[in-house]
Order: sequence, then C-alpha cells, then structure tokens
Amino acid sequence: MRIVLLGPPGAGKGTYASRLTVKLGVPHISTGDIVREEIRKETDLGKKIKDYSDRGVLVPDEIIIKLLAERLKKPDCNEGFILDGFPRTISQAEALEEIAKIDLVINLVVPDEIIITRLSNRLICSKCGAIYNLLTLKPKRDMICDRCGGNLYRREDDKPEVIKKRLNVYRRRTEPLIEYYSKKGLLRNVVCNDLMIPPEDIIKKIIGIIKRCKELRNY
Ligand code: AMP
Repeated sequence: MRIVLLGPPGAGKGTYASRLTVKLGVPHISTGDIVREEIRKETDLGKKIKDYSDRGVLVPDEIIIKLLAERLKKPDCNEGFILDGFPRTISQAEALEEIAKIDLVINLVVPDEIIITRLSNRLICSKCGAIYNLLTLKPKRDMICDRCGGNLYRREDDKPEVIKKRLNVYRRRTEPLIEYYSKKGLLRNVVCNDLMIPPEDIIKKIIGIIKRCKELRNY
C-alpha cells in the first residue's frame, strides 16, 4: 500500500512511520531524513539546501521532487511505502501523482500547543535517527540512544523561533493538501489531542484505518 502521512511538524509522523514500517513491511520514506543526510554528507546539494532546512522553510519543489523520485525508484518501494513529510505543497502532490498512485492519506490532527511542547523537547539519535522526547519518550541514559548507543541531539530547526516559522509554513503551503486529498476521497483524520497518548494507541487507530481501506479496495 502507498500511504502518505500528513500533518504539521511535530505531529508524530516520523515516530508513527518508523513503527508502521515494521508492522506493514514497506519502507518509511522521510524527505526530511533525506535532506538531513545530504547536509550531513556535505554533498553539493546538501550545501545548497542546508540554509532552507536550518531556517525551517521549504526546499524548492524541483529539488525535493527529484530527490523523492530517485528514492521511489528503488526496488524496496515496489510493494508500497509510507511517505513522511512529502508532499508538502500542491505541486509536490501533483508531481507525486505522476510517479505513483497513492492509496491512503492519514492526516494527523494535532493542536499547536502539543506541537510546540513536543518539538521543544524532541531529541534525535545521530546514528540511527530514532526519535525521543524528554517528556513522553525519555531515553534510559542521558543523551544516549537506547537502540544503538548513538549520541542524541536537538535538531537545528527545533529552536522555538524556527518552530513558529515551520508552523506558519505548514498552514500556508501544506494545509491546502487536506482539501486536495479529501476531494479525491483518500483522506482519513486521526486526532491526537493529548500529549501523553502512547504512540501505540495512535498506531492501532492507523492500522484499523489501513485494514478497512484494504477491505474496501480488495487488496
Ligand atoms: P522534516 O524532518 O520533515 O520536518 O523536514 C525538515 C526540513 O527538510 C524542512 O523544514 C524542509 O526544509 C525540508 N523538507 C523536508 N521535506 C520537504 C518537502 N517535501 N518539501 C520541501 N522541503 C522539505
């Protein structure tokens, strides 16, 4: 199945996608991770896009569409994928239609207060990308990843002033996708309005939606 996870920054897309990928056996594709990897490797492209990412604004459509198209060509995507952080604009969604047929869009509905609290407390593993949260999903050892022992860090764009900017960018450029996918009959909302809801509860809801969708479409 080809699934898009839609929702504001900090809605939990990465956390849920990393669990869904195990349960569904299809890859989790995060354009944010692809962008950060290019920056980390200091490729020519990485140098070009670092500034956008650090400032919390969107990388130009033509660059990100090319990066995603490359990734979707890999054989592990043949049976489906979970997209996290793409599309983020209507033109990205239109470009995606040319590349792949999307079966389902899960829209995570999360109030701003939760997003701000979550992002201000988020930590990421520099080695395996695992996501932690100082309030809800604390690592067992201070600043060390439970899973691989890597060092944890705060993302450059998780600073309070950048969070605000990213939310504005989301409202202006990405939120129109809710209507875009609703009109196509592909959108299902999942409401997460309590910071302390365990990720597994949300995963159960999402899996329920995927099952119903599969039954309806005879997968
Ligand atoms: P994320 O980890 O999804 O929050 O993405 C981090 C940053 O990568 C964003 O703030 C953008 O600068 C860039 N980025 C990731 N995905 C996209 C996209 N689909 N379109 C444009 N920029 C993106």
